[in-house]
Amino acid sequence: MSMDLEYEWMRYGSLRKGGQLSFALKITCTRWWKTEKVAYTIVDGSGQLPPQQGYIELKAGQSRLIDYDHTPGEWDWCEGDFIIIYDTQGREYDRKVFSLTTYGPGECPECHGSHQCAACHGTGRITDKMHMVSTCPRCLGTGVCQTCYVPTRNGGMTANMATFGSSVATNTNPKVEMSRQQRMIDLRKRIAELEAMISRCEFDERTRMTRDANFGYDTSRTTDYMRQAQLKNTYQTQLIQLRYELEQLENGGF
Ligand SMILES: [Zn+2]
Ligand SMILES: [Zn+2]
Repeated sequence: MSMDLEYEWMRYGSLRKGGQLSFALKITCTRWWKTEKVAYTIVDGSGQLPPQQGYIELKAGQSRLIDYDHTPGEWDWCEGDFIIIYDTQGREYDRKVFSLTTYGPGECPECHGSHQCAACHGTGRITDKMHMVSTCPRCLGTGVCQTCYVPTRNGGMTANMATFGSSVATNTNPKVEMSRQQRMIDLRKRIAELEAMISRCEFDERTRMTRDANFGYDTSRTTDYMRQAQLKNTYQTQLIQLRYELEQLENGGF
C-alpha cells in the first residue's frame, strides 16, 4: 500500500550544539484525512553508532522533524546516514540518504576551498575597529565555513568539534541501555561544556559593555548581541536541566 509522505532536508542552527549548523529531516503526511503510521530505522552511514528505531504517527498535513534537538529519537545527521521507512506490514517502503551536494575543491563561493569562515578567517573570533575581540557571529566561534560545511563522523572537516570537545558527533540512542555510570560521565562532560560556553558569553558581554562605556555607544539592541543573549539563555536552561538529571542519577535513580 502506498504511503503519502514528503521528505525535506533542512539546514538549521542546533540549540544543543550552541547554534552550530546542523541538518534536520522533515517528514510530512500529505494525506487528506487519514493518519500515516510510520515505523523507521536510522542507520549511521559510517557504521559507528547502532541503528535507531522509531515510530511516528502523522495526521493529515502534519510534519515531524528528526534532528538533534527534537526528542525522543534525536539524531545528529552526518553525511551518508540513511533512514528506512517501513510500510504497515513491516516491509521496506522507502529509503532516504542524507547526502549534501558538496562543492568541488576550491569551488565554495565563500571560502574557495579553505573551509574557513570568511568572516573570521577560521579563527572563530573577530576583532572590530576598536580592537575588541568577540565571538564570530557568522560561524558562532567554530571557524568553519557555513556554506560548504558537511557534517561527518570520520573526522574530515568537522573542525567545529575542536571548539567544545566532541559534542558534534554524539548521538543518543534511547534504545541502547547505557549504564548509569556512563550516563553520569556524559552528563558531567556536557555540563562542563555548557559552563565553558556560558562563561565565554559572559566574557563577550563584558567586553561589549566596556567598549560601549568607553566609546559612548549602546549596542545592546543589535542583532548579534540579542542572538548572543538568547544563546546564553538557552545554555542556562539546558544547564539547569542537566544538573537536575545528574542529581537524580547520583541519588541512585535512572
Ligand atoms: Zn566554504
Ligand atoms: Zn567565523
